[in-house]
Amino acid sequence: MAIGWLAPCAVCGRQSRGFLYCHLLRRDRFPDYSFCSRTCLERGMASAKENNGVIDKTAREMQALKDARRPFAEALTELGLMDAFFNRTASEVDRLIEAVVTGYIESMQSQTEESRAGVPFDDPIPF
Ligand SMILES: [Zn+2]
Repeated sequence: MAIGWLAPCAVCGRQSRGFLYCHLLRRDRFPDYSFCSRTCLERGMASAKENNGVIDKTAREMQALKDARRPFAEALTELGLMDAFFNRTASEVDRLIEAVVTGYIESMQSQTEESRAGVPFDDPIPF
């Protein structure tokens, strides 16, 4: 995997910001990973060291979905929407969380690609 710094953060999927890692610096044997922050770099390095130089994305995604259920439930409760979700299964809730996160990350990635392609952001300046 030679995409290195062009790839999104290997831990959280946000735009990477120059934090790079390759297990044992053996680019011929292990993939390059990029990260958004020192925090994600340290988490990714720990995961790679435990998983023979590879970041186990599936297990991390499952844990992230599980960890997101609580703040999702808190937001539903604050908005008075919990009744509609009370009898839903965990996998149905995970599907909603995954849809939101995927849409968010895909938008962030496409915006990054647009800015690299020279298309200026057209957001109004907030001041
Ligand atoms: Zn990150």
